Amino acid sequence: KLFNELQELKGNIRVYCRVRPFLRGQGASKTVVEHIGDHGELVVLNPTKPGKDGLRKFRFNKVYSPASTQAEVFSDIKPLVRSVLDGYNVCIFAYGQTGSGKTYTMTGPDGASEEEWGVNYRALNDLFKISQTRKSNIAYEVGVQMVEIYNEQVRDLLSGDSSQKKLGILSTTQQNGLAVPDASMYPVTSTSDVLELMSIGLQNRAVSSTALNERSSRSHSIVTVHVRGKDLKTGSVLYGNLHLVDLAGSERVDRSEVTGDRLKEAQHINKSLSALGDVIFSLASKSSHVPYRNSKLTQLLQSSLGGRAKTLMFVQLNPDITSYSESMSTLKFAERVS
Ligand code: ADP
Ligand code: MG
Repeated sequence: KLFNELQELKGNIRVYCRVRPFLRGQGASKTVVEHIGDHGELVVLNPTKPGKDGLRKFRFNKVYSPASTQAEVFSDIKPLVRSVLDGYNVCIFAYGQTGSGKTYTMTGPDGASEEEWGVNYRALNDLFKISQTRKSNIAYEVGVQMVEIYNEQVRDLLSGDSSQKKLGILSTTQQNGLAVPDASMYPVTSTSDVLELMSIGLQNRAVSSTALNERSSRSHSIVTVHVRGKDLKTGSVLYGNLHLVDLAGSERVDRSEVTGDRLKEAQHINKSLSALGDVIFSLASKSSHVPYRNSKLTQLLQSSLGGRAKTLMFVQLNPDITSYSESMSTLKFAERVS
């Protein structure tokens, strides 16, 4: 309760940092992570400045060590996820360079077992399950949409036909929170619905990535869970949305080394990630102007960023010393918005 009140004061924005483990077969690697505290402390060492001068301390709402499990992460965010049933809008992001574990946190590894399920599976599964058992005087419906934003264009990931139809974003805030009304929406009433929808979405994302070589790291994917609750006594209806966002890789692309499509992609990613940073920063600092219009990503999420909405950012780190400078820029981004 107290935590919630503190969060209200901070504009409902929280930042959790997750350090991924070294992967099997990565050999003898060295880490830049010196210390992870129990209260959100993270100490990073600059590999070129060993000793006290190279230490840099950060503080977030929480820091997960490489040993953390998917179940542990989800149990921490479960109350946030469930607040959607009370009519809150919630955005959960994964931010970080390619290979830092964004997809692992949000979806899980390829072919994940139930234990390895990421936030997307767990949140969908949890919401439909509770929606069927909770307060009997409210009838809930749970539906899901999945879209991808690539080069500032929105594409349906659940559509049967693979035509690259570009979808529009509604500029006005709808009561039901539907920002992309033309994206397919499917009801979720069982765990097998969850699995089937996730698999269609992942497949559609994969199709485009083989064509464009790992496109998944250069697009934002957004799973939106829509909850509609009808009070059977009064007839009143409430809506809540949960947006689960696997962001494009935040690594900076060397402009001198890329041209053409690759440069255009990099510019779009840059623009949308800084637009997101600017929006969250102005919300956190209670600025009177929030610049939602600067990217498709922030336009799409507008009704779920700010106001009563709740935001959680997973800041993902690859602990390897070779990733030090990308990790530092990730941490600086996170520090600015937290
Ligand atoms: P990203 O989506 O940021 O590019 P991935 O989620 O694909 O990164 O992670 C890169 C690799 O690291 C994948 O093989 C993934 O399974 C693995 N990985 C990431 N985080 C973890 C973790 N917490 N535990 C185990 N493996 C992880
Ligand atoms: Mg990924």
